[in-house]
Amino acid sequence: VHANPAASLPAQLPGLEWIVDPLKVGRLSSDFSWFSPVLKEQLAGKRGDVVVRPRTEDEIRSVVGACARQGIPITVRGSGTGNYGQSTPLQGGLVLDLSAYNAFGWARRGVGRAQAGIRLADFDKHARPLGYELRWLPSTFRTATLGGLFGGGFGGAGSITYGPVAATGNVLGARVMTVEPEPRVLELHDAQAMLLHHTYGTTGIVLELEVALAPAQHWMEGVAVFTDFEKALHFANDVSANPALIKKDVCFLGAPIPQYLTPIAEALPAGCHAVLLVIAECSEAGMRQVLAQHGGELTYCKNAEEVQASGRTLIEFTWNHTTLNALKHDKSLTYIQSAFDPSPNDYLGQIVALEKELAGEVMMHLEFLRTKEGGLNCSGIQLVRYTTPERLNEIMQIHRDHGVRINNPHVYVVEDGKQGKVNPEVVALKQRLDPQGLLNPGKLRGWDELRAADGVAA
Ligand code: FAD
Repeated sequence: VHANPAASLPAQLPGLEWIVDPLKVGRLSSDFSWFSPVLKEQLAGKRGDVVVRPRTEDEIRSVVGACARQGIPITVRGSGTGNYGQSTPLQGGLVLDLSAYNAFGWARRGVGRAQAGIRLADFDKHARPLGYELRWLPSTFRTATLGGLFGGGFGGAGSITYGPVAATGNVLGARVMTVEPEPRVLELHDAQAMLLHHTYGTTGIVLELEVALAPAQHWMEGVAVFTDFEKALHFANDVSANPALIKKDVCFLGAPIPQYLTPIAEALPAGCHAVLLVIAECSEAGMRQVLAQHGGELTYCKNAEEVQASGRTLIEFTWNHTTLNALKHDKSLTYIQSAFDPSPNDYLGQIVALEKELAGEVMMHLEFLRTKEGGLNCSGIQLVRYTTPERLNEIMQIHRDHGVRINNPHVYVVEDGKQGKVNPEVVALKQRLDPQGLLNPGKLRGWDELRAADGVAA
C-alpha cells in the first residue's frame, strides 16, 4: 500500500509511459519561472510525484479517471516553456505530459486542427505546404506546444496582424476531457472554448484545438539600427501602422539591449537602438522607404530562403527570447510585462516618458501588436536591473502611475497576472469540467474563493 496514491499509478496502469526517476520528475515539474527571482524562491522544491506521457485519448482517459477516483491532483504540461511556474504542481500528484499526444489533424479553408501536444513548429511544417501557417508564434515555437500556448501563452510573432490568441475569432474550438471517475469528452466552441485560454490548465484538459490560420508568406528578416531612441521608436511604429506592409514581427530594443544579442552582434553597433523586423518579402521595398524617412540603417537583411538555410530566425531574439539572451550575459536582470495606453499615439508618449524616468534601471523592449479590439499598440517586455522585490514592485507601480497596465510575471496565480480579477464564467466552467478541483490546484483564486465560501478547504 502506497501512502502517496500518485506513486502507485504506474503499477495501476503499467501499459503507459511513466517517468518516476526523481531527477527527471523534478525537471518535468519546472518551467522558465526562474526568469523571476521572486518565483524562483517561491516555487523552489515544488514538484509532482510522477509523470505520465500518454499517446492516445484512451491512455489519457484511463489515467485521468484513475486520478479522479483517488483524488490525485493533475498538472497538465506541454513543453514546460511557460514563464510563471504554470506547469509546476503546487500540491504534488501527477504531471500529465501531453507532448506525445501531438498529431496534426488538417488545414483547410483557413482553419486548422491538431492535438494539443503538437509543437508549434511542427504544426507549421504540416500547414505551410497547404498554404497556411499559425497566426502567432511565441519565440519558443520550436519546442512550445499548441495546448501550452493556449493554456498559458499570450501570442507572439504574428500578433502584430492577428492580435493576441485571445482576440475573438482566433481560436474556434477545443476538444476537452473532464476530470471525473468516468471522464467525458466535450467539444467547446468559440467563447466557451476561450474560457479555457490562459487559465494554466486549471479549468480543463484540452485534447485538440481548432484555430483560424494565416496565409503562408515568404518572410524576410532585417535589423534596422538608429542612434536616436525616438527615431527608432517612430520607425517601428510607422512600419507597424502601415496597412500596406505585411508583417510578422516588429520588435523595438532600446540601448543597451542590442548588446545582449551576441549571435547577431555584427549587425548591432555599440550603443545602437535596434528594430528587428520579420516582414513579407513583398513589403521589403516599402519598409526601406519608411526607414529612409527616419534615417535608420539596415544592417542585417536575409530573404526567406536565406533564413531557412541559416537555421536562424530573428524571432528567437524577440519576445521573451530577448530576456533569455540578456540573462545569458547578466544573471541579475529580470523583466516586467506591460500594456501601454492603446489610444492612438498615447503609448509612444508613455514609452518616452518612462524611458527618461527609469533610464539605467529599466531597458525598453517593445513588441508591436494589435490589441484584442484591433488598435495598434505595443507590449512592453522591459528588462529590469533587479535589486529587491520591493523595488521591483515600485517600478511596476511607477508604470501604473503613468497609466500603463502591468501583467505581472512575478506571480503564479492566474488572476494575479491579470490585475487580480476573478472571472466567474471560468470558475463555473471549472465546476463543470473539474468538479473535484484536481487540476493544477492553488493557481485559480476564483475557485479557491468559491470553495472557501462553501466551507470546503481549498
Ligand atoms: P507549458 O509551459 O507546458 O504549459 C503552459 C500552461 O498551459 C501550463 O499551465 C499548463 O498546465 C497548461 N497546458 C499545457 N497544455 C495544456 C492542455 N493540453 N490542456 C490544458 N492546459 C494545458 N509566450 C508567448 O505567449 N509569447 C512569446 O513570444 C513567448 N516567448 C517566450 C520566450 C521564452 C524564452 C520563454 C521561456 C517563454 C516564452 N513564452 C512566450 C511563454 C511560453 O513559451 C509560451 O506561452 C508557450 O506557448 C507555452 O507552451 P508550452 O507547451 O511550453 O506550455
